[in-house]
Amino acid sequence: LAEASRLPSIQISMRSLCDLELLATGGFSPLTGFMGQADYERVLEEMRLADGTLWPIPVTLPVEQSHFGSDRILLRDVHNNPLAILELSEIYRWDAEREALAVLGTTDPRHPLVAEMARWGKFYAAGRLRVLQLPRYYDFTDLRRTPAEVRQLLSAMGRPNVVAFQTRNPMHRIHEELTKRAAAQVDGSLLIHPVVGMTKPGDVDHFTRVRSYRLLVEKYYDSSRTLLSLLPLAMRMAGPREAVWHAIIRRNYGANHFIVGRDHAGPGNDSNGRPFYGPYDAQELLARYAAEVGVTMIPFTELVYLKREGRYVMVDEVPPGAEIASISGTQVRDEYLAKGRLLPEWFTRPETAEILRQMYPPRHRQGFCVWFTGLSGAGKSTIASILNILLLERGRTPAVLDGDVVRTHLSKGLGFSREDRDTNILRIGFVASAVVKAGGAVICAAVSPYRAARNECRTMIGSDQFIEVFVDTPLEVCEQRDVKGLYAKARRGELRGFTGIDDPYEPPVNPELVLTTTDVTPEENARKIIRYLEEKGFLEG
Ligand code: ADP
Ligand code: ADP
Repeated sequence: LAEASRLPSIQISMRSLCDLELLATGGFSPLTGFMGQADYERVLEEMRLADGTLWPIPVTLPVEQSHFGSDRILLRDVHNNPLAILELSEIYRWDAEREALAVLGTTDPRHPLVAEMARWGKFYAAGRLRVLQLPRYYDFTDLRRTPAEVRQLLSAMGRPNVVAFQTRNPMHRIHEELTKRAAAQVDGSLLIHPVVGMTKPGDVDHFTRVRSYRLLVEKYYDSSRTLLSLLPLAMRMAGPREAVWHAIIRRNYGANHFIVGRDHAGPGNDSNGRPFYGPYDAQELLARYAAEVGVTMIPFTELVYLKREGRYVMVDEVPPGAEIASISGTQVRDEYLAKGRLLPEWFTRPETAEILRQMYPPRHRQGFCVWFTGLSGAGKSTIASILNILLLERGRTPAVLDGDVVRTHLSKGLGFSREDRDTNILRIGFVASAVVKAGGAVICAAVSPYRAARNECRTMIGSDQFIEVFVDTPLEVCEQRDVKGLYAKARRGELRGFTGIDDPYEPPVNPELVLTTTDVTPEENARKIIRYLEEKGFLEG
């Protein structure tokens, strides 16, 4: 360790930390270190490591530089605890767009990993890992186990078949049905294996979920054949490829069956409001590789509730004319949690409903961010300042992050290159996310010309809490207004890189609101936003 402290060192991200742990414990077996270029290339192209072993997802360590002046570097966590020494064998350049297309099938920045990858270091570092210390946890320590420990507990249950269940959401009655049916079908033990590393931004936090899983398993499952264990995985939300990966990981934990339902590891909808993957794409891909993985897939179509009969069936088994009930994930959030309503018993166990209600204050006590974007002079600040007053009138006290003001404090010294603009926007997004997490309202008004940076702020803040308002004023009109005389300067060439003149503006693809200002007054527009916030439940009464 003394030796380690003399090495060049880098802090690794939460994602790399999760990867490191699974590399070290055997969760990613046969991988034992971050991938070198030969493995990486073949994984992208063929879902295989260089030696031919099936492996669908890159496990790589992004770094900022190609030289460290040493063949060993120390990896530290965000609190600077030393984790491992990486014996560098190669550092190679990678291409975010190519990786995203190959692994995720998209470069749409609404995909949470696409947005995140844009910020990773431009190189990947690989080599043998000498682990000094695994990440330390203080929560739910009794449920955190290595693959070897899980395998041992499962084998003590004495059933040759083990069914694993992956989840990143609270488990409702549907999931209870899926898991119990699957275990019964193969007369196996059940490994309930929720992801607690990183899931989709905006998901129910793992503290809340694990509290509810624990009660659920204690009360409603057969303890002689059920094991609840936490998985410190950083999900990629890669749908089909991720399903294959999940199966490989669960095999490492001792399962020989794996449940895949509808939209497994799905990242939600793209910029056009369409799902990134088909609902059964993940099942199809895993079906092709299941034998090679050594895990039998237990596929389910969507389960629905028959009202009359009071039971769950698969959609393809619904008798004609039967009345079905269902509550979507969006409805759970918007219609129940956001309003402080208890979920019904046919949908979720009362213990789960109660934990969720405690954790989710009604939306009018939650934070939100109104994010204005548009050209200079479009009217963002003007509308924002009226919105501020209207919110104060409604009992909310918003923080206001106006682009011009931010540039005199928080972002003082930054210019208008793409990089500086992105830095500025991400700083605003960072502050806004802290305010929103603490339950506050925040109004941001900056040109924010780049879609990717805005989407990253959306991800940081949480899509449910992010209201993107496009102030859609034509360039000619902004130029005519020319409040600060900047357009004239830009036209005369005295100002370089001015948005709309010689610098790009990327309009939002699917903003929550679009405002026009040539036919609508600032006050009317501010009231439109208030109405939107009312509809979404962010304002009381
Ligand atoms: P993930 O993003 O890992 O799919 P979930 O917790 O939403 O996370 O789902 C866990 C598992 O349950 C997945 O295999 C998923 O396909 C399945 N599943 C979730 N909801 C349903 C449903 N309504 N019908 C069938 N399967 C479902
Ligand atoms: P931004 O913050 O987008 O750079 P500002 O709000 O500072 O823009 O400037 C917009 C200018 O346009 C203000 O001088 C405002 O009075 C004027 N304006 C004229 N009509 C409107 C309208 N309907 N909505 C907003 N601003 C308008």
